[in-house]
Amino acid sequence: MPYAPSATSEFDYPLTTRYDEPDALVIFDDVLVPWDRVFIDRDVTKVREQFFTTGAHALGNWQAQTRFTTKLKFIAAVARKITQVNGTDRIPGVQEKLGELAAVVSSVESALIAAQHTAELDDAGLMVPGKRALYGVMGLQSETYPRVIAILRDLVGGGVLQLPSGASDLQSPTTGPDIERYIQSPGAPSEERIKLFRLAWDIIGSEFAGRHQQYELFYAGAPFVVRGVYTFRHYGYEQQVAELDEFLDGYGLDGRVDASIPASPEEGA
Ligand SMILES: Cc1cc2nc3c(=O)[nH]c(=O)nc-3n(C[C@H](O)[C@H](O)[C@H](O)COP(=O)(O)OP(=O)(O)OC[C@H]3O[C@@H](n4cnc5c(N)ncnc54)[C@H](O)[C@@H]3O)c2cc1C
Repeated sequence: MPYAPSATSEFDYPLTTRYDEPDALVIFDDVLVPWDRVFIDRDVTKVREQFFTTGAHALGNWQAQTRFTTKLKFIAAVARKITQVNGTDRIPGVQEKLGELAAVVSSVESALIAAQHTAELDDAGLMVPGKRALYGVMGLQSETYPRVIAILRDLVGGGVLQLPSGASDLQSPTTGPDIERYIQSPGAPSEERIKLFRLAWDIIGSEFAGRHQQYELFYAGAPFVVRGVYTFRHYGYEQQVAELDEFLDGYGLDGRVDASIPASPEEGA
């Protein structure tokens, strides 16, 4: 069953009607799996290794971040267009919010580009995306998405609640003319405004939208796993700490550089 079976109109729910996906629990009861189809049997270490000693986990998440980047850019475009339609994009405070949105979205896109730029061939000859950038940006995903949604929520204002109950209200000869007259924006006629705000609602407020807030939080695993395992392990702290040690080794108690600075109050007196 889809999450929102009542979302039957593409105009009212442009994302739900396209992308809503049902989850399912499949139970294989009394199934014969031929041995030539079994890859791993009762070996937990090997099950883990198939993801982490091959490029599988990184490549799967590279696809996931490509998807995430595309989604965030789409949301940023919706935010930008709504401010144009409302005529609020001339206000410095609104521009700052759009700037913050751009900063967040471009950071994710930049990490994706960096992961591709730092890709390396592994022992099996597979090109694997750079893990520092890839797992680094994944570590913020559970905060990035809610932040982007919060900015969009802020910018759309109450307009998403002041909408006709459905596309049929616009088509109705009774309500249509009033809607056309009273629900419009400085930058868009009635139908265009409602269409855009309906799309925004399907990102921030519909059942589909709520599901996606949860979806992005756990897409790559629980945040404490993503950060505590993937991001922490793949950052490359060893190299950073080695560079820090080199810096620390470069000076000691007797290592005063500027002779004009007194070493003690007595010397300065
Ligand atoms: C869109 C989507 C796609 C997914 N795809 C896959 C997939 O392809 N493969 C797959 O295996 N799984 C997948 N998952 C499942 C996902 O990995 C799990 O949701 C995730 O591991 C969290 O497990 P849980 O939902 O059982 O929550 P729980 O383990 O119950 O955790 C819930 C919360 O409890 C807290 N918590 C629990 N344990 C700890 C701890 N030890 N330390 C600190 N805090 C803790 C944290 O706040 C955590 O967020 C997917 C989930 C979603 C939403």
